[in-house]
Amino acid sequence: MNKQNDIYQDALARLQQMGQGADVSPEVVDLLMHAEVLVTASLPVRMDDGSTRYFTGYRCHYNNVLGPTKGGIRFHPQVNRSEVQALALWMTIKCAVAGLPYGGAKGGVEVNPKELSPMELERLSRAYVRAMADFIGPDIDIPAPDVYTNARIMGWMVDEYETIKRQRSPAVITGKPISLGGSLGRDEATGRGAYLCIREMADRLGWVSPEIRVAIQGFGNAGYHVARLLQKDGYRIVAISDSKGGIYSEGGFDIESVWTQKIKVRQIQAVYCEHTVCELVEHKKISNKELLELDVDLLIPAALEGVITTKNAANIKAPYIVEVANGPILTEAENILLGDNKIILPDVLANSGGVIVSYFEWVQNRSGYAWSLEEIRERLEEMIVKAFNEVWHTSMHEERSLRSSAYTIALRRIGDAVAAHGTREYFKNGKK
Ligand code: GLU
Repeated sequence: MNKQNDIYQDALARLQQMGQGADVSPEVVDLLMHAEVLVTASLPVRMDDGSTRYFTGYRCHYNNVLGPTKGGIRFHPQVNRSEVQALALWMTIKCAVAGLPYGGAKGGVEVNPKELSPMELERLSRAYVRAMADFIGPDIDIPAPDVYTNARIMGWMVDEYETIKRQRSPAVITGKPISLGGSLGRDEATGRGAYLCIREMADRLGWVSPEIRVAIQGFGNAGYHVARLLQKDGYRIVAISDSKGGIYSEGGFDIESVWTQKIKVRQIQAVYCEHTVCELVEHKKISNKELLELDVDLLIPAALEGVITTKNAANIKAPYIVEVANGPILTEAENILLGDNKIILPDVLANSGGVIVSYFEWVQNRSGYAWSLEEIRERLEEMIVKAFNEVWHTSMHEERSLRSSAYTIALRRIGDAVAAHGTREYFKNGKK
């Protein structure tokens, strides 16, 4: 991977750009230019045919100034050191923007999980925890789901951890099945959080929801929930895509039927060509590239990082972009979009609903008391709307982009904690 498309280098370039305008000590930016710990492990897995395959797993503790590190585990063929570090840096900023008592982390395994049987997937998940057991813990580093991992995988992982430690330890991992101490509302949390941010933004901009045409790139868990909630409020979801391609309908889709069909067939275009929904709505096939460049009001990238680059930024027509994925817009591409007066609600705020409810799950596990779904939703709303207001306010008052405001708030919080810790951080980095 060359420097140009190295996502971690891009994340660091953005951090420096954001730091320059943030009016914080350069020491804070310096500190965040380095990942504290990056563990690489070889994970041997016995396959169903009796052979052994070796997968590469990573866990990165980016920075723990604000608390134990927190972040998901991704199973994806493109997982690599650079990506894990970039995602862990963004988790550090995200937790600080939301006001959570966490630092940032991320993990991943380079694997196409769709090629594994359920038993192989379980063995891989357990192998990951065996390799990382000394690096995770309720007060050290707390994993959670990310792209292509889910509650079931978290369940296997927490079980493996408890077996190794010979004790119950539900707070070590969030996003677990409810039966193992998972939280109500965690599955919808990322989508709901993004929806709440959009609702707040719509309020300030005076949007009339039926007039807003929305395109969603990535129809996984987060994409589905944000689409569902927006549609309930009257928004028109005119385009949806997944890794295989997309569909477009000027009149808008019925999200529940698309989701049901996707689950059945696991691919959006196939759904619309071979199944009954075909007859329900007018639609046309589009590519992911076409979806991003559609003439819509609101574009929601909800898949992977780096999809808007200097190559397509000038073709983006949507005036508003909400980042439900982590890092969908590269730094230089964002500069082009801002030059075109686009408003971008950044990932570190827009998709923080997931980690906020992860925090609630961790709190519930530690207190041994489960909250109701209503309570979770209320607390999520309170917390994310507060974060949204702070970012919006800073953007208006300090004339910054929303991302620059979010980074400014995060860097100031991390800076305050560095100062409160005393000189430890400086010694830790060998500066004095
Ligand atoms: N993977 C999610 C994210 O990128 C959630 C992390 C968590 O809940 O710790 O924000």
